[in-house]
Amino acid sequence: MNNFFDVVIVGGGASGLMFASLIKDKKTALIEHNQKLGAKILISGGGKCNITNEFVTDKHFLGDANFVKSAIKSFDQNVTLRYFQSRGLKTAKLKNNQFFCDKSAKELVDILSKESKLHTILTGEELLDVDKYDDIFTLKTSKRELRARHVVMASGGLSYASVGVSEIGYKIAKKFGNNIIKTAPALVGLTLQKEQFFFKELSGISCDVVIKAGEHICEGSLLFAHKGISGPAVLDASLYWEKGEISIDFLPNIKLEDFRNSNKNVSTVLPISKRLASALLIHLGIEDKKFSLLSKSEFEKLKIIKEYHFSPAGTFGYNKAEVTKGGVDTGEISQKNMMSTKCENLYFIGEVLDVTGRLGGYNLQWAFSSAFVCANGINKE
Ligand SMILES: Cc1cc2nc3c(=O)[nH]c(=O)nc-3n(C[C@H](O)[C@H](O)[C@H](O)COP(=O)(O)OP(=O)(O)OC[C@H]3O[C@@H](n4cnc5c(N)ncnc54)[C@H](O)[C@@H]3O)c2cc1C
Repeated sequence: MNNFFDVVIVGGGASGLMFASLIKDKKTALIEHNQKLGAKILISGGGKCNITNEFVTDKHFLGDANFVKSAIKSFDQNVTLRYFQSRGLKTAKLKNNQFFCDKSAKELVDILSKESKLHTILTGEELLDVDKYDDIFTLKTSKRELRARHVVMASGGLSYASVGVSEIGYKIAKKFGNNIIKTAPALVGLTLQKEQFFFKELSGISCDVVIKAGEHICEGSLLFAHKGISGPAVLDASLYWEKGEISIDFLPNIKLEDFRNSNKNVSTVLPISKRLASALLIHLGIEDKKFSLLSKSEFEKLKIIKEYHFSPAGTFGYNKAEVTKGGVDTGEISQKNMMSTKCENLYFIGEVLDVTGRLGGYNLQWAFSSAFVCANGINKE
């Protein structure tokens, strides 16, 4: 194999594969340390992969708003859908305006693989280091050395180690002078302090909630788990939570006043699981009796379940997190082509950057949009 390439892509995930499908007329190699491509896409969205969302704005992301806006504008959700649908992917719009693959995420990986313009695919091979001499990069992998004019780091974050992650993107960024914004697991379950350990007894129960994390409102279902709380609303809230309190409304769109004259027991009349209602009553020290018999002070206390404040202890960690927030500082990345302003012809795309989307298809959309900007920039050279 001639080991000199115009472009070497590191990472065969969503951003790397989209880049590979859009790059034109360049001798390109892809290094992927998993045996197969797109491993994370295959497990995304419960195997059906939430490709994008009908509504995508910079407000759906953590990160620099102008940087995000500029990339999304270049390759937005409609372009993403057209890209896949025109290549035969059947999509389904489900709740919260999320678009999924109708059958399976494998179809999406197959389309990207088929469209990729790769000269060489090196799977089962790990990138270990990169150096640069006289404008040419040398990439040291677990099996060989490659040389390249352009290097595109599409190596993802630190979440979900079971599908193959590494710190290589951050390592290379730092080595060439780029700043890293502190990383943390995100879109992840939250663990509990002792006072909320009673939630663990409710493992398996889910309910619709509204969670406030800072100024952000996250709606959806909450799942009680052995380790703490999880489910879409919690994952979404974890994006904004760092330390300190969140608040949960266990009865969204319900006014407790409407039950004031009810002669049914509180745990029966509240439209949540009886086990959850009973546990919350015990926690608040309120006897489960006819709603109408609650004293004024008991009724006031009960209102806490519409705004239950507590401080999570931490998160379930990177291994359970869907994404990694933080990453390569976009203040040092050109929004024209995703090139590092610290090192010519070194590019960063996808989750390795300090851009993180909410739950709902935004992270794959980011992977695709940032890949487009990068490929388009290199194609124009
Ligand atoms: C369980 C789960 C479900 C998810 N569901 C959704 C969803 O439905 N919708 C959504 O928008 N987002 C979802 N996400 C998030 C989304 O999958 C990621 O944000 C997205 O795949 C990131 O794309 P990427 O190309 O930046 O990184 P990745 O897809 O992680 O790709 C990076 C690739 O680089 C490879 N790599 C890393 N280090 C090296 C190295 N040293 N040498 C060689 N190769 C290396 C990795 O093996 C990997 O294949 C989910 C994530 C998880 C974990």
